[in-house]
Amino acid sequence: MTKRVKLECIEPLRKKGAPIIIVAAVREAEAIANACKENGIKISAFCDTEKRKTLEKFCDLDVVHTPNIPNKYPDARFIIASHHIIDVENQLTEMGYNEFYSALKLFENYNVENYEYRISKSYMKSRIDSYKKTHSAYFDDTKLYMRSVDIMVTTKCSMKCESCSNLMQYYKNPQDSDYIKTIESLEILRSHVDDISEYRIIGGEPLMNKNWSNIVNVIIEKNPKRKVYIYTNGTISPKEDQIKNFNGKDVNFIITDYGKLSRNVDKLTELLNKNEITYVRTPAENWLECGTIKQHNRTVEDQKEIFKQCCVKYVYTLLDGKLYRCPFIANANNLKAMPDNPSNYVDLFSKTDSVQNQLKRLMNVAKFFPGCDFCVGRPYDPTSKIGYDGKGMITPAKQSKEILKYKLYK
Ligand code: SF4
Ligand code: SF4
Repeated sequence: MTKRVKLECIEPLRKKGAPIIIVAAVREAEAIANACKENGIKISAFCDTEKRKTLEKFCDLDVVHTPNIPNKYPDARFIIASHHIIDVENQLTEMGYNEFYSALKLFENYNVENYEYRISKSYMKSRIDSYKKTHSAYFDDTKLYMRSVDIMVTTKCSMKCESCSNLMQYYKNPQDSDYIKTIESLEILRSHVDDISEYRIIGGEPLMNKNWSNIVNVIIEKNPKRKVYIYTNGTISPKEDQIKNFNGKDVNFIITDYGKLSRNVDKLTELLNKNEITYVRTPAENWLECGTIKQHNRTVEDQKEIFKQCCVKYVYTLLDGKLYRCPFIANANNLKAMPDNPSNYVDLFSKTDSVQNQLKRLMNVAKFFPGCDFCVGRPYDPTSKIGYDGKGMITPAKQSKEILKYKLYK
């Protein structure tokens, strides 16, 4: 397939021409800016679809809101720092631009150690490794690369957030995912993709599944070069023997701190510190309401818009033997809150359809999924109304007394 994004960037970008803009102000954009300087390439600005990122400078340069680029830079050349190369290519093409470059060649001789960054050097290194894999897969149609996969190990949660974006508020009979099926699903997935960099253990509250650490241990054993992230709400502190094998194995905890609701967060961090396991503890903030299930009957154009704006459309989610592109469709389909449509997922246990072909189809969906019609949207820019039909910014983690109702499709 002809590629609109160019691989060879150093010589053409060194030459005088239209201003050069880096898309977007993501973490690895800092390294791309350094590599440009090393190679005599002059950058004029960054651009980003998230308005909040345009409020301050990035690497001493302006960050322009992407929709404003044509006003400010009617002619421009672009270096794509985003991993979502096809999205950027489509967006800029629609805006009338036609000169896009990957930074792959810039990274060939780049030494991460030579600079300081906003993030740690080791994290920058892993971001660049993952960038190289996603961009290489773009140029090689035979490769299937997944930056990360979210493994839903349970639909149980120790909290009852009314607007849970993973839709836990609708489960009348929340369940742990079947252990054997989860392990088999991961094995099938692994055998059909070239690489997965990150495995993310999620729920509900994943620590409610008594097999959560066994699942992590299998992932560690089968995939030596990967990262594992465990997403928890700080209500549960595991037993020491559940985590003792994680030390030095690149297993990390991501703790959302809900204040008083996270009743065991201090105990948990103490345990992680004692066992030298890395974690990040961040307060719950910036919640955009996106937990409503509602059929919209949108036009095709509106469906494309909601999908284009969506910030979680590459959050591959594994649930009950099926792989989805986002947690909303995964759970809405699991709840039977939308008609069952195989275009929404890959059935990893399918006896009739090749998993490889299903995966290629799922990974290449660029317009929208049928399931998007049931979603209010989850735009990159939470202040934007484009492609969004929800209640806007809400108080995080408001607790619900009851299970929420929804329309069941049989
Ligand atoms: S803590 Fe709240 S947001 Fe997180 S999974 Fe549970 S119900 Fe959902
Ligand atoms: S259903 Fe579509 S718009 Fe909604 S979160 Fe998923 S991919 Fe995004």
